[in-house]
Amino acid sequence: MFPHKWPISAFVAGNAVLDFLNTVDAQGRSADQNRLTSYASVLAWSLAAGVIDAAQSQSIVVAASSTPAYSERALVGLVQWRETVYRVFMAICNNKEPPANDWKIVETSIKKAISSALLSRDKVGATSWKTPPAITDLTTIPQRLALGLHELLASDLVAKIKQCEGCTWLFIDTSKNHRRRWCSMATCGNRAKAQRHYQVKATAE
Ligand SMILES: [Zn+2]
Repeated sequence: MFPHKWPISAFVAGNAVLDFLNTVDAQGRSADQNRLTSYASVLAWSLAAGVIDAAQSQSIVVAASSTPAYSERALVGLVQWRETVYRVFMAICNNKEPPANDWKIVETSIKKAISSALLSRDKVGATSWKTPPAITDLTTIPQRLALGLHELLASDLVAKIKQCEGCTWLFIDTSKNHRRRWCSMATCGNRAKAQRHYQVKATAE
């Protein structure tokens, strides 16, 4: 649906991995609500999300166009991974154990991503796994997302992940009083407000 341009309203989660899980029409997660409909849409999203830069995007475009069948499989794999990770977070949000099969897939994807990553140190000496700068092919985006997922699962932000009360999107609630309810006030928040207004009016009449 947004093959080449992703609006700023598609990035409301406060975390790139959760924004990736939100690459569906807000009201559902069926195939016709999937917004990652081509590898071009994956690239455009990754660029807009800051997962890759413009030069890396160009290299991946070259890799994707030289192996269309492989990039088609990579797209299917990414969408499947997205739904698996979504189910894992839904369980976590509901204080349940993630489904064993899904957890296994998450574990395998993170292990695979780490196996070719570099353990790098930032300015203050904190370590994290990073994609080697020389690698920019069809493995780059899945690897970066899996490394991002590993970082998110290991951080205390995981306790602040919520699902929007109006749709399937997830976000990190960093509000002071932990009372954020909507992915966005402009969409689900306003819809709920309008509904409440209608109900109050209907009761009064
Ligand atoms: Zn919502």
